[in-house]
Amino acid sequence: MAKYVLPSLEYDYNALEPHISGRILEIHHGKHHAGYVRNANLVIERFEEAREKEDFSRIAALERALAFNLSGHILHSIFWRNLTPKGGEQPTGDLARAIARDFGSFEKFRAQFTETAASIMGSGWAALVWEPIGRKLFTTQIYDHQSNLSQGSIPLMVLDAWEHAYYLQYENRKMDFFEAVWNLWNWRDIAPRFDAARKLQISLPGAVQPEAKLS
Ligand code: MN
Repeated sequence: MAKYVLPSLEYDYNALEPHISGRILEIHHGKHHAGYVRNANLVIERFEEAREKEDFSRIAALERALAFNLSGHILHSIFWRNLTPKGGEQPTGDLARAIARDFGSFEKFRAQFTETAASIMGSGWAALVWEPIGRKLFTTQIYDHQSNLSQGSIPLMVLDAWEHAYYLQYENRKMDFFEAVWNLWNWRDIAPRFDAARKLQISLPGAVQPEAKLS
C-alpha cells in the first residue's frame, strides 16, 4: 500500500527570512509535518490490523486520527508549495479574474483572507478554496486540520495559523505574521492549482445556478 512521505522543500530553511525564520521552518517541516506523516501511516496500519482481527471497536478513534493526521500532511504539503522566497506579487490570468469576481477585488480578498486567519479561535488554518458545485472561490477557516471545510471544497492556498507556525519569532503578534506572508505567496503554484481544481466536474443538477463567466 502507498505510504505518505514528507516532501522536500523547494527552498532552504532560511530562504523565507526575514518573514519566516529558518528555525521555525526547520521545526515546522522537520518535526511537526513529519509527525503528521508518521502518524497518518501508523493509523493506516491500525486499520489493517482491525480488519485482520475483525475488531472494529476503535474505529471511531481511528477515523478521527486519520482525518487529523492526513489532513495535517496534505495542508502542510500545500502550504510549503504555496510559499516562495520570490513571492509577494499578485495573481494574473483566470485566478485574478476569479478573485475579482468572487471577492470584489484583490485588496478585498487580501483583507478577508488575513482576517480569516486572524480570527481563528484555537488551532487552525485560513484557506482559499474552490467549491466545485457552485464553482466559486471561498475563504474558509479550517479548525485543527480537518473541520469546518464545506464538503468537496478544494484548498488552493492555505495559511497555517497554529502557534507553532509563528510563535518562536512573532510571539503574540500573530497579525504581523499573517501580514508578512503576503511577501511569500507563490502565485505560480496557486494559479495552476486553481486551473486543475476547475477541471473537476461534479455538478449537482438543480442545486445551483450556472457559474458566472470570468470576464
Ligand atoms: Mn503547522
